[in-house]
Amino acid sequence: MLQYGKIVRYLLLESPLSMSPLPQPSSNLGLIPPYLFAELDKKIDAAKAHGVDIISLGVGDPDLPTPQPIVAAMQHAVADAATHQYPAYNGSMPFRAACAGWMERRFGVKANLDTEILSLIGAKEGLAHLILAYIQPGDVTLVPSPAYPVYRNYTLLCGGTPITVPLKAENVFLPDLSAIDPAVADKAKLLFLNYPNNPIGAIATPEFIEEAIAFCKKHNIILVHDNAYSEMTFDGYKAPSFLSCEGAKDVCVELFSFSKMFNMTGWRLGFAVGNPEVIAALGKIKNNTDSGVFTAIQQAGQVGLENSDALTADINQIYGARRTLFVKGLQELGWPIEAGAATFYLWVPVPAGFTSQQFATLLLDECGIVVPPGNGYGPEGEGFFRVALTQPEARLTEALERMKAHGISYTMKSSPALQTV
Ligand SMILES: *Cc1c(COP(=O)(O)O)cnc(C)c1O
Repeated sequence: MLQYGKIVRYLLLESPLSMSPLPQPSSNLGLIPPYLFAELDKKIDAAKAHGVDIISLGVGDPDLPTPQPIVAAMQHAVADAATHQYPAYNGSMPFRAACAGWMERRFGVKANLDTEILSLIGAKEGLAHLILAYIQPGDVTLVPSPAYPVYRNYTLLCGGTPITVPLKAENVFLPDLSAIDPAVADKAKLLFLNYPNNPIGAIATPEFIEEAIAFCKKHNIILVHDNAYSEMTFDGYKAPSFLSCEGAKDVCVELFSFSKMFNMTGWRLGFAVGNPEVIAALGKIKNNTDSGVFTAIQQAGQVGLENSDALTADINQIYGARRTLFVKGLQELGWPIEAGAATFYLWVPVPAGFTSQQFATLLLDECGIVVPPGNGYGPEGEGFFRVALTQPEARLTEALERMKAHGISYTMKSSPALQTV
């Protein structure tokens, strides 16, 4: 009995579990804002529970399947036991050769297989580890706003300071590099750019790319170009590689992703190409963190790159048609927007009198339509919402019909009742 009592007393009163809380996560983790869709997700779940038929134009995740030749290559590759062992950490030689061949065919950019190309478990992984490789407390990065959240959040996770570079409509959503305080620029280690752009869909002019490279050379900054949407373009527009600029490789590393190029978000495949010092630093982090990309996935990805013109043409035809349909529908509802040349995103201003959050909430409450509010991509995104064209045309048409039926238009008046959130 006594023994038993002692045990109970230990468990209840003296057990380390009940006596002291667990250690707290790194304080840097506390700097990361809640997940962009967190608030909306709660409302979406509640709406679904009430049987509402939700049309999500939210997450930038293709609804279309990966092209069949890539799937077939994967099926073949996965049956080969030679793919089952740890992969070459920097990417197999044939995969890197396929990446180099594609860079040369597509952009005229030459890259050394051994020193200038590295396989990635998606562009996001590459971005995060690149930041980890360069940023420690006290270091500064230049981060556009609005932007893909990883640039800013991973800088914060590493204890660095992200300095916001605004993207404004009046400057066709290109940053005004001359407005950056030279003292800040001298301190910065990394500048992030992303054209064609998520969330805006904007593209970079050749003059701007030259200017960005010159700026980075002048201030000794590594230019990290996230080229995740290089192939998702329309109306004959071809997006450039920043590396095709004279001397770009002195300061630039570019990240490519198979996710949006070939509807392969779930597969996790990308590659980094560019300055060999930067590739080596990123490789060192990766070598100590992950063990590379499943060889079968690399083999499937090669088939994508080898047939990229035909495969992306098919995919872009679908997204391009959706874009035309939805832009026209929004124009009919009074929106002053034009179809852009790239990405499956539309960056749409909210009607006067609404915040981004209020208007996104209104679309969900009134129409069952999910869109992320623009401020989720940075403070400069306030006043906009993003549309991801990741629904078939019939659903996009239905979304537009619901908006029309509920009196949603660019010129609609906000009422206090609509602004409770
Ligand atoms: C989708 C996306 C990525 C992530 O690509 P993965 O290869 O799936 O990790 C990176 N950057 C931007 C801007 C994106 O929109």
